[in-house]
Amino acid sequence: MLEVVRVPVLSDNYVWLIHDSVSAETVAVDPAVAEPVLQAAAARGWTIGQIWNTHWHGDHVGGNAGIKAAAKAWGGCTITGPAAEAARIGSLDRTVREGASVGIGDHVARVMEVPAHTAGHIAYHLPDDGMIFVGDTLFAMGCGRLFEGTPAQMFANMQRFAALPDDTTVYCAHEYTQSNGRFALTVEPDNMALRERMEAVDTARARDEATVPTTIGLERDTNIFMRARNVAELAQRRAAKDAG
Ligand SMILES: [Zn+2]
Repeated sequence: MLEVVRVPVLSDNYVWLIHDSVSAETVAVDPAVAEPVLQAAAARGWTIGQIWNTHWHGDHVGGNAGIKAAAKAWGGCTITGPAAEAARIGSLDRTVREGASVGIGDHVARVMEVPAHTAGHIAYHLPDDGMIFVGDTLFAMGCGRLFEGTPAQMFANMQRFAALPDDTTVYCAHEYTQSNGRFALTVEPDNMALRERMEAVDTARARDEATVPTTIGLERDTNIFMRARNVAELAQRRAAKDAG
């Protein structure tokens, strides 16, 4: 069994630590910064031996160098990230493309290329563990902004995510849920699953609690970008959210 720990950093980023107790390996996914992530690992007696980056944005790779430097004390840290963004990230030891396998202990993550938020964005899907690390492509009730891609690409990404098993746990990189949900309610005001979810989200946020991870099943029911019926509908919704 893999253990996953959420490390909140900066204003609304989540860095994820994945730990395999059998091999004693630990992976940091998208470390925005180094120190709080190293501390979260050390507090559990873990040492970070790998970093998995989903895309080049500074709030996903900013901790690479600091973690790599600290890891000299325990045998090093291998940094994996998208081949298409290797030049922009600079610190990658291993570059990966669609279909590549990345491991933690005996657990395998399959790389999915999901361009749109950035041109080379990837996700790490662990099918046997029912987990996916999606960076800034899929959020709870939302999707990433289209900085370097098209609505057609994001629509294709959403269809791929929607095809995963409902009980797949989705680890996204920001706490954007409440804002996403409020917008979603303007699009689907009669969606009962969405209304119920937003009540729970509002309660959690009032208590300053995290609302991620989420699941593919929950997103299929409440994510208006995953629920968009075609590219034009996704494009219209994304543009309206950006303007809001
Ligand atoms: Zn980003």
